[in-house]
Amino acid sequence: MSNLKHYIDGIKNGEGFFDEAFKLHLFLNALCVIKAIYAILFFTFDLRYLGMLSVVMAVTFQLLRLLVQKGAYKVIIHVVYIEVWCFAVVNEVVLGREGSFSMLAIASIPAIFYFALTWGIYKKKEMASFLLSLSPILIFTTLYVYNLIQPKPVIPVKTYVIIVFAAYNLAVTFMVMIGFLMLLHWDMSSKTTSLTSKNEALNQEANRDALTGLFNRRYMNQELDEKMRLLQEEGRIFGVIICDIDNFKKVNDTFGHESGDDVLVNVARVLMSSLRDNDVVCRWGGEEFLIAIDGNRKVTVDVAERIRGMIEDMVVISHGYTIKITMTFGVTESTPGLSVDKLVEIADTRLYKGKQNGKNQVVSEL
Ligand code: GH3
Ligand code: MG
Ligand code: MG
Repeated sequence: MSNLKHYIDGIKNGEGFFDEAFKLHLFLNALCVIKAIYAILFFTFDLRYLGMLSVVMAVTFQLLRLLVQKGAYKVIIHVVYIEVWCFAVVNEVVLGREGSFSMLAIASIPAIFYFALTWGIYKKKEMASFLLSLSPILIFTTLYVYNLIQPKPVIPVKTYVIIVFAAYNLAVTFMVMIGFLMLLHWDMSSKTTSLTSKNEALNQEANRDALTGLFNRRYMNQELDEKMRLLQEEGRIFGVIICDIDNFKKVNDTFGHESGDDVLVNVARVLMSSLRDNDVVCRWGGEEFLIAIDGNRKVTVDVAERIRGMIEDMVVISHGYTIKITMTFGVTESTPGLSVDKLVEIADTRLYKGKQNGKNQVVSEL
């Protein structure tokens, strides 16, 4: 039972192992079992020719499994449709309408839609499912009219035999219909789930800087807008730090661009490790980072000072070089009514002042 649950969960989640070939083997085996039961019933009730027809069909389903590895899915599915429809016609004509064999043709409709809409075997899926569905409808209608004209079965059988077949046919019909509708639903929802997770991954990528893995300027702008909203509505003050690596051009010139990249990655690591959950850091530009701090100016200045010290102490080993750098910081506190651009401009001006005053410092006033 737990095995069956495992299979169903796998099919539901669209797991790789439960691919189209696997499902087709499962489907053909299920059909084979259904036909074998028909064969047993026919032989039990002494309907030998119909029993033999069922055996031939069960064997055909097994032979069709050989085509699965050749990828001839379309051929297999079409042969199955034709077999099922022929089986319905022959038995309905031979045993009469009360046996409900024509319902088997109707049962093929959800299967037609499932294979056409989710397996990509037709170029025009909607058109293919519609046109293919016309066949069972036509078969069902023709048999209905035929039964009106010719109500007597070719081989009359006892009522209890008819009841057994009617019960089995209806059970098979409903099982097949419900089964394919469930498969259709699972396939669609597993595709939606995988699209959603791909979208999430793309969104993540769009918000990140490829080199450092930090958020990028685009994302930070959204964050700053949100923080500004919270400031206006709830009075939650936040601080802004803009920091820039000192003499970074010289780092590149002396140790090479790749070592420069290593320095940027290490700076990003220090920045990330020194922040709390509600703080956000991004790579604002080339060797410039912007940090939004959850707190007032005093808190923000303390954080900036702490990071400045950590960067000063940091040693980057890259391509055999030992590199040490410093950074300069411009700090400001958010003020209600001030635009994000203005806030960033104030922090930037302070950073510039720090550069002019000798670098490697935190400036929080003009
Ligand atoms: P200052 O102390 O005034 O900030 O001087 P600086 O040399 O750091 O500033 P400048 O603006 O003159 O040079 C910044 C350098 O940063 C130049 C640019 O090539 C380098 N840079 C920008 N982005 C990257 C990057 O992704 N990787 C590397 N290796 N270098 C970068
Ligand atoms: Mg610089
Ligand atoms: Mg710069």
